[in-house]
Amino acid sequence: MRKPLFALLILVTVLGLCAQANESPRRTLLVEVRDIPADEQAGEGVFAYNDYNRKRIVSLVRNHAMILATPEEAAALRDQGFSAEVIMESDDELTLYRRALYGPTLKPDPVYHTYDQILARAAALQAAHPELIQRYPIGETTQFGRTIYAYRLSNDATVAQDRPAVLFNGCHHADEVLGAEIVLALMEKLVAGYGSDPQVTHWLDTLEIHLVPVVNVDGHHYVLSGHDPRWRKNARDVNGDGITGVFPEGVDVNRGYSFNWAMGGTSDPGGASFRGAHSFSEAENRAMRNLADMRQFVLSISYHSQGEVIFYPWTWNGMAAPDDKVIKRIATDVAGRIARMDGEGTYAIAPGGPSSQSYPWFYGRRGVIDMIIETGKGSHLFPPSDVPGILAENLKGTAAVLDNAAGPGLSVKVTDAGTGAPLSAEVWLPRIDNETVDRRHSDAQFGRARRLLDPGEYYLVVSREDYETVVLPGVSVAAEGWTELEVKLIRR
Ligand SMILES: [Zn+2]
Repeated sequence: MRKPLFALLILVTVLGLCAQANESPRRTLLVEVRDIPADEQAGEGVFAYNDYNRKRIVSLVRNHAMILATPEEAAALRDQGFSAEVIMESDDELTLYRRALYGPTLKPDPVYHTYDQILARAAALQAAHPELIQRYPIGETTQFGRTIYAYRLSNDATVAQDRPAVLFNGCHHADEVLGAEIVLALMEKLVAGYGSDPQVTHWLDTLEIHLVPVVNVDGHHYVLSGHDPRWRKNARDVNGDGITGVFPEGVDVNRGYSFNWAMGGTSDPGGASFRGAHSFSEAENRAMRNLADMRQFVLSISYHSQGEVIFYPWTWNGMAAPDDKVIKRIATDVAGRIARMDGEGTYAIAPGGPSSQSYPWFYGRRGVIDMIIETGKGSHLFPPSDVPGILAENLKGTAAVLDNAAGPGLSVKVTDAGTGAPLSAEVWLPRIDNETVDRRHSDAQFGRARRLLDPGEYYLVVSREDYETVVLPGVSVAAEGWTELEVKLIRR
């Protein structure tokens, strides 16, 4: 008699553990719900936007949701008066996600470009206008060794220009594919508009614009080959079993930068935000670092989805970034030009945390005003009919970014007083900069350091080993444009 009781106790315990480990019920239905009222998408509503978490609510775009449900949950929704139509039933969750996010064909809509299509389109633009656009490699992907390309655009793109440089990149996160589409659309607009569109012509005559359509090339391929519409991380075979592309493999390449790396994401390889074994463990991050080593940018945008918000650097233990005023002014300008999908107002801005992502590294280590733009709301792969609108609005955002690269700001050229050669030197503002940010440098090629600033008086220090330090206590930055200053350093 004792034995069966013992067995029963074990069974009860095991069932209890199962219930704990798997709290959500097994949802085998994909259910489409239409005409969801606004109040049900807010607060405690049945389709509260805050529940958009990829577990129950797969997408929530305007008043339309795709959700996973049990038969009981679907019936309960109908009892509550919602139109809850079962679209598909499957024991395979990935199949349900494919149907929800790719649509009836279970393949990505052609509105989204594969990496090969992006490369082919860019190659055609370069073949037609080699003076306006030049491709260059910045690295290879971690798992499959595919080349990650950047593009340089100006009115004379065949050589580096001593001009304010701006970077736009997409798809650190593989499923956030709108980033690649926005960067590609910007590329098309710039090349097509030079000589006919006065604004585009002015940008290409006065700036150098760099584009990286896809950072996470391997992950982007998983999404746009139809393999997995939810793929977020790169393709690294984390456990080394030779199998890739099966969750939870991969590393979150937007948690791999060496600025407070250990504070970001998770150390759990099974987590969606796994930060990797160490900072810059992933080739995608090293590619972006290579790019930052090649060129100093005054402004940089990383496209993500979703949320219709711009995250800027930063809030850190309640402290704002040293350049907070300028950063917030630019973020506000950019956000204010991008209309939300519901047509009610424009994108919001918010300070992001200071850890491991691209923007704190670009800002804190390299002095680049870098922001994340979270495009669209309620999905990553949006219905094809929504894509043109999101692209058009975000192109207005790119215009705001490029307009802000015109200044005001300080442009310092550092040379050797004896030889006239350009010098890489520390160029910093000790009354603004603090210990949270690295000192800025002029670049070795032109001896140039540019920094967007509000108009006013600044205390400037320029220093380099073996040279006399130059201290300029009252540098005046004009209200418009770049205030040019040449500093000649004397060798000790
Ligand atoms: Zn993202």
